[in-house]
Amino acid sequence: MTLPYAEPLVRLEPQPRVIPEPPRVGEPGGPHCGLCDWLADFENSEHEPPLWYDDDWALCRATGVTIPGVVWLASRGHHDSFSDLPDKVAQSYGPVVARIERAILALGDIARVHVYRWGDGSAHFHVWFFPRPLGMLEARREMLPLWADLLPEAPKEDVADAEAKIAAALAADN
Ligand SMILES: [Zn+2]
Repeated sequence: MTLPYAEPLVRLEPQPRVIPEPPRVGEPGGPHCGLCDWLADFENSEHEPPLWYDDDWALCRATGVTIPGVVWLASRGHHDSFSDLPDKVAQSYGPVVARIERAILALGDIARVHVYRWGDGSAHFHVWFFPRPLGMLEARREMLPLWADLLPEAPKEDVADAEAKIAAALAADN
């Protein structure tokens, strides 16, 4: 693993804690949850529909993609995290993630699919899928999102091609 920065890096001290924390998107007092609006009415939205969806989940395109195959999965309903997903949604999470992982791996030349749940930006449940390119050893583990943030944006047609393949694989893998 290698940080995508040259040495020497200077270690920072932790900042003073900010309590209470500022509200996140979709949290009481925070910005409105636009994801809820889109998921409720994507047929009539100016934005593209999800790559794939069912009653509980929607697989979504990312913007500014540097590694084709990066996608994110959102719950259709506004739930914050695993701890408050309705039982039916929580029970379908594992099988849905497995299907998405298979679909991304089928793109080829991918060593592993990372799954990230941060939750610090929006209070609407979503997880990120990052394919770690085969042989890109410097981007193992937590280095992948750092590298993905710094790499040049991938050609739009490559991103769209990967997304179309993921959508087709999911549609075929019920
Ligand atoms: Zn929401």
